[in-house]
Amino acid sequence: MSYSAFDLTGKVALITGGNRGIGLGMADALAQSGADICLWGRDEARNTAAVESLRVHGTKISASVCDVSDETQVTVCLGDCLSEFGRIDGCFANAGVLGGARSFFDITADDWHKVLGVNLDGAFYTLKAVAGHMKERAEAGDPGGRLIVTSSLASISGAARNEHYAATKGGITAMMKALSVELARYGVTANAILPGWIETDMTEAAMANEKFATNIIPRIPVRRWGQPEDFGGIAVYLMSDASAYHTGDELLIDGGYFLF
Ligand code: NAP
Repeated sequence: MSYSAFDLTGKVALITGGNRGIGLGMADALAQSGADICLWGRDEARNTAAVESLRVHGTKISASVCDVSDETQVTVCLGDCLSEFGRIDGCFANAGVLGGARSFFDITADDWHKVLGVNLDGAFYTLKAVAGHMKERAEAGDPGGRLIVTSSLASISGAARNEHYAATKGGITAMMKALSVELARYGVTANAILPGWIETDMTEAAMANEKFATNIIPRIPVRRWGQPEDFGGIAVYLMSDASAYHTGDELLIDGGYFLF
């Protein structure tokens, strides 16, 4: 018999960037714990493949093609998700892009706006829309909700040649903290997950670089790259009733890299 608070049966999770990588790792664990899943990504084929892989767990799964940097698409896709599932109990604002590691002096205004558009504006549009739904529900007598952002160690360390990316991750962590205070009255918590070095499409090029791997792995006490499934446990906990009193926090999932 497992700890009953981790049973997510009847709860609905929305995961942006849920079709691969860390988002899919979280979605898989949430579905295994009984949650229905609504996932968003831009690529229809990847969305379909993710839905297929998650359906083995027997919960209701659906995906929408949604570019979170476009507020209209976010509004439409949230409406679709609510029509299909009736409610959203937890929202993982996880969609993100890198800006291409380059010297600060070579980051163009276009690079800057592209990264901010997805990582920061996209999280703002998503969280604002979902928080509105949670507030309405609370005012109708059904309080509660979970907002989770995928930030990065870049928000708390010096991520050289990534000033645009770092700015977005610092920004979403700060937004999460403000939300945790403003929305507590509705029973809504807000927290940030800060991944370390995780093996996904986003980091493929860096990890294939032998010099990079040789330098980084010895600095990770657990001595391996993180994997998307390493985010399953934290996703289930943050989505569950067990985390009702845990809000405004930054949770590092990095194999000890930051500490070391
Ligand atoms: P990934 O494998 O490249 O996945 C990125 C996800 O975001 C995909 O599902 C992608 O789907 C989606 N996405 C990208 N742009 C989008 C947009 N405009 N609208 C909607 N969805 C969009 O990367 P990951 O490593 O899993 O990254 C997930 C999150 O973790 C990101 O926020 C990233 O910054 C953060 N993070 C990752 C690491 C790491 O080491 N991997 C470390 C720290 C933080 P589509 O391409 O289909 O849109």
